[in-house]
Amino acid sequence: MPKALETVLEIDLSALTHNFNYLKSKLQPQTKFLAVVKAFAYGSDSVEIAKHLQKLNIDYFAVAYINEGIALRDAGITTPILVLHPQSINFKILIERCLEPSIYSPHVLNEFIKTAEALSQNNYPVHIKFNTGLNRLGFKENDIETIVSTLQKTSVVKVKSIFSHLVASEDANELDFSKLQIERFKTIAKIFEEKSGIKPWLHLCNTSGVINYPEAHFNMVRSGIGLYGFGNSAEEDKNLKPIASLKSVISQIHEIEKGETVGYNRAYTSKGHEKTATIPIGHADGISRIYGNENGYVFINGKKAPIIGNVCMDMIMVNITDINCKEGDEVIIFDATYTASNLAESAHTISYEILTAISQRVKRVFL
Ligand code: PLP
Repeated sequence: MPKALETVLEIDLSALTHNFNYLKSKLQPQTKFLAVVKAFAYGSDSVEIAKHLQKLNIDYFAVAYINEGIALRDAGITTPILVLHPQSINFKILIERCLEPSIYSPHVLNEFIKTAEALSQNNYPVHIKFNTGLNRLGFKENDIETIVSTLQKTSVVKVKSIFSHLVASEDANELDFSKLQIERFKTIAKIFEEKSGIKPWLHLCNTSGVINYPEAHFNMVRSGIGLYGFGNSAEEDKNLKPIASLKSVISQIHEIEKGETVGYNRAYTSKGHEKTATIPIGHADGISRIYGNENGYVFINGKKAPIIGNVCMDMIMVNITDINCKEGDEVIIFDATYTASNLAESAHTISYEILTAISQRVKRVFL
């Protein structure tokens, strides 16, 4: 692999294929696979990821917001796209771009029907979201009566699926709660089917749900983080391959003497004759200021170089006193060995946040 000569996020599409095939191998052949590509496909570029998955015959995509769905349609993605958190102000464009809304409240249901009627739609596919414990978005079981009577008065929409979201599918300590959510979801589906006379698809599981709750795969699963290479447990991480590597380069090396300071606010003071390297990546690229002051490190020629002083907007400075390196050498922030999940630990966060924080100005390179 050529060494990075600037700051890049390398995306390994063969690792994406591997993760997709691995997760698919956990499913029954008839179970459909929805890829969650919101937040720029967890930082890795939703258009390229969606194009690749479309070639692998993925069944569905999900994004959070309508503009994310429009970007995929603009790029020629034709696979159905579920919009998980649409706002009613955008329903007209949602319909025009063939995006499918999650309907999560009576207000959203009524507003969507109004827009679909105005656009003379017939049987427009919608997905009804139920709240089984997350208390974030979704109808409650006792809303079913109202939903069904509203739906029976119109033919402009058709319920394609009913879905919910697990609160802690990765957490063995929350096994009882996950099982309770599965039971609540089954009850909701049963009541909905009885009252409406229709049998929509059911889906509940995210990546950890796919792995930990095979009994709850229903008609479709919705995986995000697993496709990008993380399984939420050390055991599962072994079967998945992180697709993203964040790399940069040494711009300049300085030699400093004892007592000299480095960076804004003089936050680091040299303890002796030391060498520092300046790297062109900062908090505007997604390197949180939390990593400053030796709370994080990068790898140069296989050695750990602690981040010293404050993280700047466009740069970090690292201590390379004990590292044999030169200007132009490659710097690894995370890769398939020291992963985004490892980096996340020192900031007390999760791989999701590390990946989605990498800003748009970081060039994406596809391998
Ligand atoms: N389904 C919904 C509703 C989500 O919000 C998400 C992610 O946040 C997912 C599925 C995918 O979850 P994961 O990335 O853990 O697979």
